[in-house]
Amino acid sequence: MELEFGKPEIAGLDIKEISCKKALSDSALEADYSLNPYRGCSHGCLYCYAPFVIKEERPWGEFLDVKRNIPKKVSEEADGKDKGMGRIGSVTEPYQEAEREYKLTRRCLKQLSDHGFSVLIQTKSGMVKRDIDLLREMESDVGFTITSLDDDFRKRFEPDAPPVVDRLSAIKELKEEGIDVWVFVGPLLPFENDGGEELNRLKETLTSLEVQEIYVDKLNMRNGVWSKIQHLLEAGQRERYEEIYFGDDDYFERKKPLYKKIGKPVF
Ligand code: SF4
Repeated sequence: MELEFGKPEIAGLDIKEISCKKALSDSALEADYSLNPYRGCSHGCLYCYAPFVIKEERPWGEFLDVKRNIPKKVSEEADGKDKGMGRIGSVTEPYQEAEREYKLTRRCLKQLSDHGFSVLIQTKSGMVKRDIDLLREMESDVGFTITSLDDDFRKRFEPDAPPVVDRLSAIKELKEEGIDVWVFVGPLLPFENDGGEELNRLKETLTSLEVQEIYVDKLNMRNGVWSKIQHLLEAGQRERYEEIYFGDDDYFERKKPLYKKIGKPVF
């Protein structure tokens, strides 16, 4: 049975409700299957390269395709598949604002749980706390992306993503509920969020929250990223970025020992 939703109004976002033909894709990314209830994202991260990954040409952040039938598809497809781990939101944020209304991530979780699948979720949103009841029932693994403890950094580079403090409080709550939590610290932008003192404070905070694993990544300058972030860099940094990304400066190799003190580099 299709549920009825009120189509939410989200400023600047053209929301379309669509039907998907397929829900579960085979995954090579630490899970057996991947699924994305939404195509598009309202979080507005300037370093996002999801459009490059999925070959999306529409302006990222200005549209959202909502796959209304995806929970039903998950249920049908899970019936015929080996049980395994489903990764929700492998490309786009599963707990973005539209999820408050549509609850597609929640309903997909329920289907995975009912079919005996485990789940892996990566998010920037404390909205995941809403689904603790389901996450507790199944084998679950939740990863939070945290780029900095400094919310000014978040406002500049992830303007519409939830504040960092919301993510930290969600980590605390999930851990208290016995759910496995890891953190992805990235991307690290040279001279912006990768200073030693700042990273040490972040490490101390995550350690105090008893986060299981921490992964670290550098900023990847994939298609379209440079044109978005270059205007936000402090004076004089643009030239340094050109040397690092388009010249022969081995900046990240020199920084790696510091990054390794925080977590496992994935580059
Ligand atoms: S939350 Fe993820 S998908 Fe959304 S804009 Fe940010 S990096 Fe891209």
